[in-house]
Amino acid sequence: MSRESAAALDTGVIHAELSRLFGFSSFRPNQMEAVTAILRGGDLLAIMPTGGGKSLCYQLPAVLLPGTALVVSPLISLMKDQVDGAVANGIRAAFLNSSLSAEDRAGVMRALLDGSLDLLYVAPERFALDHFQELLGRLQISMAVIDEAHCISEWGHDFRPDYLALSAIRKIRPDIPVAAFTATATPRVQEDIVQRLGMNDPSIVLASFDRPNLSYEIREKTGGERQLVSLLKEFPGQSGIIYRTSRKSVNDTAAMLSAKGFSALPYHAGLSDGERLRNQDAFIRDEVDIIVATVAFGMGIDKSNVRFVIHADLPRSIENYYQETGRAGRDGDEARCVMLFSMGDIPKVRFFIDSMLDEEERARALSSLSKIVSFASSTVCRRKKLLGHFGEVYPEENCGSCDVCLGTKEVTECTTEAQMLLSAIIRTDSRFGAGHIVDILVGADTQKVREFGHDRLNVYGLGKGKPKTFWRRLIDELAARRIVARSEGLYPVLYPLERAMEVLKNGEKVEMVRVEAKRPGKHAARNAASDTLPGDQDLFERLRALRKELASSQGVPPYIVFTDRTLHEMAARKPTTPAEMLAIPGVGESKLRKYAQPFLDLLRGRP
Ligand code: ADP
Ligand code: MG
Ligand code: ZN
Repeated sequence: MSRESAAALDTGVIHAELSRLFGFSSFRPNQMEAVTAILRGGDLLAIMPTGGGKSLCYQLPAVLLPGTALVVSPLISLMKDQVDGAVANGIRAAFLNSSLSAEDRAGVMRALLDGSLDLLYVAPERFALDHFQELLGRLQISMAVIDEAHCISEWGHDFRPDYLALSAIRKIRPDIPVAAFTATATPRVQEDIVQRLGMNDPSIVLASFDRPNLSYEIREKTGGERQLVSLLKEFPGQSGIIYRTSRKSVNDTAAMLSAKGFSALPYHAGLSDGERLRNQDAFIRDEVDIIVATVAFGMGIDKSNVRFVIHADLPRSIENYYQETGRAGRDGDEARCVMLFSMGDIPKVRFFIDSMLDEEERARALSSLSKIVSFASSTVCRRKKLLGHFGEVYPEENCGSCDVCLGTKEVTECTTEAQMLLSAIIRTDSRFGAGHIVDILVGADTQKVREFGHDRLNVYGLGKGKPKTFWRRLIDELAARRIVARSEGLYPVLYPLERAMEVLKNGEKVEMVRVEAKRPGKHAARNAASDTLPGDQDLFERLRALRKELASSQGVPPYIVFTDRTLHEMAARKPTTPAEMLAIPGVGESKLRKYAQPFLDLLRGRP
């Protein structure tokens, strides 16, 4: 097909390709816009959340357009995964990187020069090589796709100096359109991408950052193994990630879980390359259920069937939390994100932040900390808060899949307690932080209390009937209501705002809201997979076992064969003919040919 006819394709034809290649009957939000922008031939910047389906946005046009699409991707593991996935859908794709043998390389080069590749995945550093630049000049290229394009920005969290080599594209081939994809929401990073890639007046596709199939829960962390173990019992046999802060806690938790019979492995930067890779691979291939990891884990993992992400420690920032939870439920099937939160975790993080040498970095870390703490201790819909952080207004009153929206709110009046707290702050001239103020209220015998003579204040010990956690929570509540504030800087102190006088002098009522969570159980998340019937879980498990067997005999991860969502649909609709099988989302013509037969046999009840 010529470029001109591709640009003029009507939506019917594009939908037909969607169904033939990928087996989907409809686009996800914004995919169609991205696809048509590419077919029209201009530059494109697409910002879509993880799991939003970015690959399809360029893979589909790559099949329709004449020539080969170059796709830049940051990691070898990711490239292999993407190529496996494309090939499974019958797309002619290959990659060029240092992991190839000389023979395989020659094969890829031949296919490339023959013009028989729709997609060629390459590493960014290749663009700095003379012989690659020379090759680029000779090929028929449909477009240059920059996946994970935020890697080009120093303002992003995954900056890769190698990505800077990409600015060469424009010089070598000013004639080919550039399409950049990222899940990073900050405007600063977006500007950087456009500028560094030298994009010309690009079409911008900006998707909502809402992940409707994820549910969010924050539970009070009661510490200890028992809480984690009982939480994990809610996810029998499912794939999930547990994030922890330190390498030691990762090792300890992984060992504890293994000892208790869970299938779990650790992942952190302190392990040898070999072990890290082995553990990651075992997780990707469903050979182990749970990976316990530091933040080092996740970049370049496209595993689509992660069913839960647990933050066993406080994440570093809301951005981190969004990114890490975002690794759940890429396949669109429901998945749960649970954070275990305790105010007691804060001093540990503070200690770490205080040790940072760079003043600016320390200030940034502190501000991130206070935002994530306020997120975790708020009683506003998690989704609303999360999206609000990225400047998006979530329109619904009740999201229906977070602990706040599903829970019951318990409101207790605590005007008297608020007055005690405020007078402790005022009597000490607003010169102290939350920790010391709480110590005064509960009558703690600390050196600092004695040193300042605060044991002689009449509020000293006045609040000892309530635990420290209560007072901590009350401070957060008063801060959220703009009755008190914390100063900026390394050692924030509490000080009263105007409304404090209303509470102290005029007895303005203060209420504390506690959310009593009902756990967002199965089917709490919206837009999730079609409801499976009660008896189908067993069938799903058998389909899953078959998938694993098939995948390992073909040397690909199970989710490349079919996603969890596709298996759920099979278990619910029980197709027995190839035509019925084709109607299952995620089964296109190529997968029908390659993989469907054993599944049909199983569904027809044949051994
Ligand atoms: P991203 O790169 O944006 O994180 P991917 O391209 O890896 O997302 O896609 C995530 C998952 O969504 C994949 O399992 C993919 O098959 C699925 N997907 C993509 N588009 C659609 C669609 N239109 N309908 C259903 N599933 C889709
Ligand atoms: Mg992707
Ligand atoms: Zn909600």
